[in-house]
Amino acid sequence: MKSIQKPIVIVGAGFAGMTVALNLKNLYPSLPILVVDSESNFIFKPLMYEVLSKEIRSWEATPKFANIFSDAGITFLRNCLTNISFKENILEFSDELKLSYKYLVICTGSIPNSYLIKGVDENCYFFNDFHDLNKLETFLKESQKTVLHKKLFIVGGGPSGIELACKIKDLFKDQFEINVIEKSNELLYKNKIFNREEAEKALEKRKIKVLLNSIVKEVSENNISICNEDGITILDKDIVIWTAGVKPNLSYLETDDLIKKDGRILVNNKLQIENNNDCFAIGDISIISGMEDLPITAQVAMQEGNHLAKNIGLLIQGKDLLPFEFQDNGEMISLGIGEASISALGITLSGKLAFEARRLIYASKLPDITESLKSASSWIIQKKSIFKKFLKKDNLN
Ligand SMILES: Cc1cc2nc3c(=O)[nH]c(=O)nc-3n(C[C@H](O)[C@H](O)[C@H](O)COP(=O)(O)OP(=O)(O)OC[C@H]3O[C@@H](n4cnc5c(N)ncnc54)[C@H](O)[C@@H]3O)c2cc1C
Repeated sequence: MKSIQKPIVIVGAGFAGMTVALNLKNLYPSLPILVVDSESNFIFKPLMYEVLSKEIRSWEATPKFANIFSDAGITFLRNCLTNISFKENILEFSDELKLSYKYLVICTGSIPNSYLIKGVDENCYFFNDFHDLNKLETFLKESQKTVLHKKLFIVGGGPSGIELACKIKDLFKDQFEINVIEKSNELLYKNKIFNREEAEKALEKRKIKVLLNSIVKEVSENNISICNEDGITILDKDIVIWTAGVKPNLSYLETDDLIKKDGRILVNNKLQIENNNDCFAIGDISIISGMEDLPITAQVAMQEGNHLAKNIGLLIQGKDLLPFEFQDNGEMISLGIGEASISALGITLSGKLAFEARRLIYASKLPDITESLKSASSWIIQKKSIFKKFLKKDNLN
């Protein structure tokens, strides 16, 4: 491998950044790699529901970056990116630090999208990171000290909305009357039919109300306004949890140089940013030209991270880069405490068995993320042989 003087800088160490960093180090140990993240801990977001329900402890889903990267021999810096000069190859950070790079990977993920709907930012709870989780947990716990049947609305009938609704119902029983609001005419419309049907059963069993074809117009301190075929209805609310969509986390980018699509950075199928061939964007913040329909998931982010590690190696060696191809390995949804639904590789599974399989699949994924997380996790349990067929390394998200 040709040596390079300036580092490969990876900004954002979530699923995409973590995967590209660890794979690059593995493939090319002598390359100088610097990983920067504004937080001190990795968040295994698909397990946030289990942290809320105390099925796992929060440290199991949030290992420290410093430990992960020092174990791997990669330099880690905690700092917040505030600007990029693509012309000069310079990054600027919140403490005025400036860094130059040889190759740049940006993967700063996504943040909730309130679609500029009145009152959403001010009056809703979110569930995108651990700050959101802690805030929601505090509210839910406080509510236990007061009357039953508090009115809880979850906006968004995608996986996050459904998974949260089921967990909260199982945790808090009649403390909350839960309503899921969805603008389209079905729940989980982007998901596999089997998971959709299992989710519908799980909601019905828990008597969680679903309002389809309903659009939220405004959220105020005490009310939520919903528009559907009957017109606008204003309902009392105690809490609204907003899971209706995400947008790329790109507020630090002051430059207009980048081409964007649906707000996300447009990259070519080699994952390069258009007109900046030494810069790459992967994970939730980017969209691949010609592959616009890819889901915004950890599964995609990790596959992109794997692929990019190989492509950066090829670029340094002056070889042609390879086009990214997505392999759909299926999907898993948690449906309440101790239950889940899985649809993958022609196999479907639901209920308690699916819950155990989901646990094991994530446990088997942990070494992909980090050995230190694997050793820290009490999720590694003894029943692996039962689920052998699910446990292939790249299966599922
Ligand atoms: C509750 C929840 C459940 C989910 N469940 C699933 C699931 O079951 N399956 C699935 O496939 N996907 C799931 N997803 C989606 C999945 O988590 C995301 O698609 C995935 O995390 C995207 O990876 P990423 O690397 O692009 O971003 P992230 O993993 O979000 O990482 C972004 C990183 O960038 C850092 N960062 C942000 N801004 C800056 C800055 N300015 N400077 C420095 N660092 C910065 C952040 O601290 C973070 O570490 C879930 C998401 C949520 C919120």
